[in-house]
Amino acid sequence: MSQVDLATTKFNWQRAVIKVGSALIAPDGAGCRTEYLLALAQFINASRRQGKEVVLVSSGAVAAGRNVMSAEHKPTLAQKQAMAAVGQTRMMANWARLFDFPTAQILLTHGDIRDRDRYLNIKSTIRELLAHQVLPIVNENDSVATEELKFGDNDNLGALVALVADADTLIICTDVDGLYDADPRSNPQAKLLTSVQSVSKEIMALAGGSGSSVGTGGMQTKLQAAKKASANGIQTLIVNGYKAASFSALANGQVPGTVFAPALSRSGAKKQWLRHSLKAKGKLHIDAGAKQALTKRGASLLPVGVLSVDGHFAAGDAVEICFENELLAIGLSLFGATDLSKITGLQSQQLEAVLGYAGNEEVVHRDDLVLL
Ligand code: GLU
Repeated sequence: MSQVDLATTKFNWQRAVIKVGSALIAPDGAGCRTEYLLALAQFINASRRQGKEVVLVSSGAVAAGRNVMSAEHKPTLAQKQAMAAVGQTRMMANWARLFDFPTAQILLTHGDIRDRDRYLNIKSTIRELLAHQVLPIVNENDSVATEELKFGDNDNLGALVALVADADTLIICTDVDGLYDADPRSNPQAKLLTSVQSVSKEIMALAGGSGSSVGTGGMQTKLQAAKKASANGIQTLIVNGYKAASFSALANGQVPGTVFAPALSRSGAKKQWLRHSLKAKGKLHIDAGAKQALTKRGASLLPVGVLSVDGHFAAGDAVEICFENELLAIGLSLFGATDLSKITGLQSQQLEAVLGYAGNEEVVHRDDLVLL
């Protein structure tokens, strides 16, 4: 679980999604620059050296492509989509030159997150990239996303990516120091809220709802993202990405802006999601070796440890995991019931011959499993 010490606003994290806005990437609409990204890149480097994991959610495709596709007036949707197609490669190239390790591009639409198979594929891809020390860089697939497919803003995309990537922390880098109790531009008395326990209606109102003052434009979607993350046991930080000092503070485990506490622990949130939102659609009976591996070693469940399968479920459904009829754990099955019944008791290297495709090695990955 992520921990926030409210007395000193210190925080711990292990896997973070860092969301970076267009203004930091293409500051004056004249293409990509690295000026505001150097300190962030250093922070990512230092964090990775400590064994921490980072996924970037980067905006900036449209901004980076804007000067290539000159639009006389306000660009049309189609022009913006074309700008995104031009700008996305430039933005990726801009990030790549900041790092000595490989970066990878993932473009998503809302429909991809809602689709069970694609959701699992995104999850496995991010997991694999992190395991190979590659930095995943996610953006909305602006060139294909139509209205109903759109996230619309990358703050909410950041929260969903944090969930899919099983992160404990979401860091939103923006152009203000954090959330204030009044508009700091017009009210010199405005105070920075260093920690927020819960994204209540009152807190939401600070973002520019009626009667509010801190109309920093983007604050509303940042608070929506913080609320989503918090409900899923993920802490959110809003920090000023223009200031190099923000990143040295983060590197020292200090919060340079506002931290939103998670509403419950990550494992508690996962349990709730698996039990109540997804609801188990089937049951896996496992052997003593698998029980040992799950409970003592925190390992993933492999086909070799599964004795039998009950119920009709698809890949991506929640399943109960039982040993001698006792409920041990609940998790997300990477196989549907039909395929899984064909491979129970088999070793990983036997799976492809039986299934006819090279699938996952695990039945339930340890990140998607909670012991009860
Ligand atoms: N996906 C858009 C882009 O890359 C940005 C959306 C946002 O900043 O919220 O230009």
